Amino acid sequence: MEIHSFRTLNLSKEVEKALRDAGVSIPTSVQQKALPPMMDGYNVIARAPTGTGKTFAFGIPILEYLNMNVDYIQALILSPTRELALQISSEIKNLGKYIHGLSVVSVIGGQRMDVQIRKLKAHPQIVVATPGRLLDHISRNTISISSIHTLILDEADEMLNMGFIKDIRKIMSYTPSDKQIALFSATMSREVMNISYEYIHRPVEIDIAPKEEDLPKIRQFIITVAEKDKPRITADIITKRSLSKVMIFCNTKSKVRTLTARLRSYGLPVDCLHGDIVQKSRNRIMEEFRNGVFSVLIATDVAARGIDVADIEAVINYDVPLENEYYLHRIGRTGRAGKEGEAFTFVSYAETARMNDIVRFTHAEPEELDPENPGIQE
Ligand code: ADP
Ligand code: MG
Repeated sequence: MEIHSFRTLNLSKEVEKALRDAGVSIPTSVQQKALPPMMDGYNVIARAPTGTGKTFAFGIPILEYLNMNVDYIQALILSPTRELALQISSEIKNLGKYIHGLSVVSVIGGQRMDVQIRKLKAHPQIVVATPGRLLDHISRNTISISSIHTLILDEADEMLNMGFIKDIRKIMSYTPSDKQIALFSATMSREVMNISYEYIHRPVEIDIAPKEEDLPKIRQFIITVAEKDKPRITADIITKRSLSKVMIFCNTKSKVRTLTARLRSYGLPVDCLHGDIVQKSRNRIMEEFRNGVFSVLIATDVAARGIDVADIEAVINYDVPLENEYYLHRIGRTGRAGKEGEAFTFVSYAETARMNDIVRFTHAEPEELDPENPGIQE
């Protein structure tokens, strides 16, 4: 069954009211397809493009099926990054703001253990976690996930990738075998699907990617440049196109640092995000970017996954990403929730082959943009 309005789902008045407050009335394609099986307790594997509302596709069913009379954790959501975990927990809190007694706790690295322990002692129904810190709590016995009903892996392909798979296997072993499990991602390789079948019994598979009208509307440009000209042309793109909310991705932390300093010296309002910055500052920087305190955020790929900042006009790939999937996750920070966006990718001579591979993989048809004239052409 598919649904075309949230009304057909007979949502609780609390969730319905919160959706109405958020101006959300028509379910997106992935929500139409995933909500019914999620609500019926089936296992689900859903692939849908960036920015198409996957968070509500699992957030709504979780909230609808909470039992407010028990004091154990009922839903566990795993995220590959701390920023995404915080974003998911704030979205779910907001969606559940009319549910009396709802408690959502994020369990992420870089935050004080004692504070998290105190919050966990207050019996949250929902926990949003990054794997490392969750395992830390499990080993100290400060959390129990043995009674969860639902386990979500957001950005599932990243979670089942080499870096995380060991942690995920361990976490799984602490959960009950009869739980519902659902995977959500914009990209999902064959290998990842094969791993997921080990864990997921008879899943309902949802694949939104092929439908043209559901793809984000992102105009893609390639700019052929020498490495040394990249900073100047970055500044040109931002000023000549009058961009006021931009994300720039570099492949390494050191490039992020250097470029941040360079663009600052040009007088541009920039800040940056990477793994060496302490969590508190990362949260502040993310918050300031959301609120438009500065307009250019330069980051490594940590910030690409799942992050939803409204109205990002453009993404600049300062370096061609190292993995094909990264390209989709990076550019997917713009063109969200039906809006339009632009993506610019700098390609140096050495990066040409990598870029050709990305074009083949994504079936993109990028346009060439003249580096000496990167403004909007008539
Ligand atoms: P994804 O996880 O697919 O990348 P998100 O769940 O982060 O996407 O949602 C992207 C944006 O779309 C969010 O700001 C969210 O509030 C908004 N959104 C979600 N569902 C709807 C809907 N049915 N109608 C309008 N906006 C929506
Ligand atoms: Mg998401």
